[in-house]
Amino acid sequence: MKKYLFKRITALVLSLVLFSSCVSGCTGIEEKEYFDTCFIAMDTQITLRLARDSGVKDGRKTIYHEDTALEAIAAECANLAAQTESIFSRTDENSLTYEINSEADSFFELDNEFCELLKRSYDISDKTEGYFDVTLGSVTELWNVTGEEPSVPSEDEINEALSHCGKDKIVLSGSSIIKNDRKAKLDFGAVAKGLALSKIIDYLNTTEVLYGLVSFGGNVAVFGNKYDTKEQIVKYKVGITDPADTSKVVGYIYIENGYVSVSGDYERYFEADTVKYHHIMDPKTGKPADSDISSVSVICNNGALADALSTALFVMGSEKAVQYYESGVYSFEAVITKKDGTTIVTDGLTESGAFEKYIEPVEE
Ligand code: ADP
Ligand code: MG
Repeated sequence: MKKYLFKRITALVLSLVLFSSCVSGCTGIEEKEYFDTCFIAMDTQITLRLARDSGVKDGRKTIYHEDTALEAIAAECANLAAQTESIFSRTDENSLTYEINSEADSFFELDNEFCELLKRSYDISDKTEGYFDVTLGSVTELWNVTGEEPSVPSEDEINEALSHCGKDKIVLSGSSIIKNDRKAKLDFGAVAKGLALSKIIDYLNTTEVLYGLVSFGGNVAVFGNKYDTKEQIVKYKVGITDPADTSKVVGYIYIENGYVSVSGDYERYFEADTVKYHHIMDPKTGKPADSDISSVSVICNNGALADALSTALFVMGSEKAVQYYESGVYSFEAVITKKDGTTIVTDGLTESGAFEKYIEPVEE
C-alpha cells in the first residue's frame, strides 16, 4: 500500500502569485521572452504569458512570433473565457445557467458542454461526499457574499434555501435536465473558472506557442515545455500568497505543466458585527464553512478538477482533507494553510521537492 507522509511547516498562507521565470538576457522589446497580456472575464483578471520564441532559428538568431499573431491567439483565449461565462455564470442574466435557475421552466434540452460539466460536477460531488455541490445555488444566492449589499440571513431563510439543494432536485437525463423543484438553482462558481482555464490551455496547445502560463484569479496553468541551455525542462515557480498578509508568500510550488487552484477565505467575504462571512459554503449547514483552513492550493492535471477539489478540501477542513488525500480517490497534491498559521504539504510535493517554504530573511 502506498505510504503517504505529511510534513507540517510553520508558516502563513495564500492565493497564487506568479513569478516570471525570467526574461532572456535581452536588450530590445523584440527579444523579450514573453508576450504578456491580460483581460477580464468571469469577474476575474486573466493574465496570459506566451513564449515569443517560435523554435526556429535563422542562422544563430531566434525568430520570434509576431505580436499580431500572439494578439490573435490571446483574443481567442478571451473568447473562450467569455463563451464559458455565457453558459455557466450564475449572475449574468443572459447566461444559460441563469435561465435554468429561473423558476419559469422545469425542462431544458441542453448542449453538450453544459451536460458534460453538470455530469462531471455531480460525479465530483459523489466522490467528495457532497462537500463540493453545484446545486447550492439557492444558498449562495441567499448569502450573496460577492454581491452589492450582503447581509446575514436568518436560520429559517437558510433552511428554506437548503431545502432546494441536492442532485435529486435537478436531474440530468441524457442531454436534458428536469427540475423537480423549480426553486432549485445551480452554481458553477467553484468549477467554471477551472473549466475555462482547461479550454484555454487545450487551445494554446494547438497553437504554435511553445510554452507559457495562464493565471485566472486563483487558478494557474502552465503549458508546453520550456528548456534551458542544457535541454532540461524549466519549472515555473508559483507563489502561494500569505492570506494574513497578501504582500507576502508562504512558499512556492514548482511545476512544469498542469494546474494549480487555490480556495481561500480572505478575498471574497463581507463583515457584519465584526464577524467575517466568506463565500465557500458548507452544503450541510448552508453557511460559510467553519473550516480550520485559511487556504488550500490543489495541484493536478485537470483544471476543472483542481478548481472543484480546492473548494471541497476547504470545506472538509484539514484533518478530513488529509484523509481524503490518503484515500487516493483522485490523484492530486495540495498545500493547506491553516488558520493557526501552520502549513500542511502533501507527501508527493514533499518527496519531489516541488514545494519550497518561504523563509523570511533575517535582518542584520
Ligand atoms: P473562487 O471563486 O474565489 O475562486 P472557489 O473556486 O472556491 O473560489 O469557488 C467558490 C464559489 O463556488 C462560491 O463563490 C460559490 O459560487 C460556489 N460555492 C460555494 N461553496 C461551494 C461548495 N461547497 N461547493 C460548490 N460550489 C460552492
Ligand atoms: Mg474552486
